[in-house]
Amino acid sequence: MSTRRTLIVTPAPTANGDLHLGHLAGPFLAADVHTRYARSRGREVLLGTGFQDTSTFVVTTAHRRGVGPAELVATSAREIAATLAAMGIRVDGYTGDDDRFTKWVVDFLGRVYAAGRLELRTLKFPYSPRSGQFLVDGFAAGGCPECLAEGCAGLCESCGHLVAAGDLLDVRNALDPSDPVTMREARVLVLPVERYRDRLRAHFAANAGGLRPHMAQAMDAMLSRPLPDFPVTYPISWGIQVPFAEVAGQVVNPNAEAMAWSMHATALAAESRGVSVAGEDGLWLAGGGSEIAYFLGFDNIFPFAVAGPAMLMAFDGRYELPARYLTNEFYELDHQKFSTSRGHVVRGRELAARVPRDLIRFYLAATSPEHQRTSFGHDALARITELRLVAPWNRVAERVNRWAGRGPLPVPARSRRAAARMTERFAGSYELCGFSLNRAAEAITDHLARLDARRVTDDAEAGGFCFEVLTLVRAAAPILIDLAAGVLGPDPDDGPDPAAVTSVTPGPLPLLTPAGAGR
Ligand SMILES: [Zn+2]
Repeated sequence: MSTRRTLIVTPAPTANGDLHLGHLAGPFLAADVHTRYARSRGREVLLGTGFQDTSTFVVTTAHRRGVGPAELVATSAREIAATLAAMGIRVDGYTGDDDRFTKWVVDFLGRVYAAGRLELRTLKFPYSPRSGQFLVDGFAAGGCPECLAEGCAGLCESCGHLVAAGDLLDVRNALDPSDPVTMREARVLVLPVERYRDRLRAHFAANAGGLRPHMAQAMDAMLSRPLPDFPVTYPISWGIQVPFAEVAGQVVNPNAEAMAWSMHATALAAESRGVSVAGEDGLWLAGGGSEIAYFLGFDNIFPFAVAGPAMLMAFDGRYELPARYLTNEFYELDHQKFSTSRGHVVRGRELAARVPRDLIRFYLAATSPEHQRTSFGHDALARITELRLVAPWNRVAERVNRWAGRGPLPVPARSRRAAARMTERFAGSYELCGFSLNRAAEAITDHLARLDARRVTDDAEAGGFCFEVLTLVRAAAPILIDLAAGVLGPDPDDGPDPAAVTSVTPGPLPLLTPAGAGR
């Protein structure tokens, strides 16, 4: 069956604080821009995300801040939703920590378990005799055995590999480096991912264009040698309790929630848009007409592109497999990592209170870390938006406004051709194959500069000019949402075929406010 809908999934951020600009410049803005574009073309597309409360980082952050984990989750859930709304990132399905989600995770993993695909293994974990706790994920700090980068257990932020807590170099208690740590065995349920390696390789080989180069290289490295067992349960108490007798009292590894969570997020998205869906996994059934695409940070590729698809394969062809992964690298602040604990952070909501969000969206698009780490700077935002967007737009808009109310003006063939080329160029950066916020922002800059340099003296030139400006607004609409709404109304579609437009009636265009004005 041909694809009828696209499921866009952006892994839920940990509920241990608000979203900062790194989250927004990475997966969230990109997912929103693609979704707006696809919808303007009349396609069915559903965007799901939410927040994750089961991560151990909730516990460690709460401890550092001296609040209870539940309180931190509740605050963060509100902040994350408010920041997405403030930035105009429209999410269809927003997951939380409710019973429906928890039950579905248990149900989904119960099916993998009942099919005999999970196995008991005795693994070594770092252990704190003083607290009587096993140290996994955010509880355990040390060096990555793969790339040697300092970090926590679970997933390496640097190389993306799975890092078993017991394999960390110089392991210590993340909350208290002075706490003596020993190693202790525990029996947990694992998914033997190695059994699916050949199928994973074949799947990604068949979808080679679906990955950006860094992820393609990392996947190649991971899949070219035996894959480690993926723990599905952890011997700790924070998380979703599992009902399996052999591991009574354990919880679900938060990274093992990835596929059940993704299905739940898209089911919620479908419900919010009035799309009927049979059960939490209804949109994911093989042959059901869904294409699944992830926008995600590079450090999330193991659970969502290796262990997750392997878990789907454990259902013997029941599910569609995700084939597209739009990864991003780190976004920094003044060339240093964002750090909430050091206060080295810019929150999207705070910035949106001072700077028009179209300018923020444009700057984040222009600097989005698609292939390498990039950096945010307040002065750079002010300078770049002024030079490349606000000043040229305002000159162009003022020129259009001189002709406002006159018309209809004829649109010459040259401008119809230019409009078609413009639309096509933007589409090339919005479609999933070749998606690039950087190039979309560059296209806005280039076309504004071109129109800014245009001399307009008579009605024929004015008609063509105004039509090309309107075409640019329409093409830039997924990024410049407020400008587009002001000119074209809410949720603009892709408009008439440029080749068929013979006249235009210029309307007054709004001007943009510079970033510095609200400071
Ligand atoms: Zn690493």
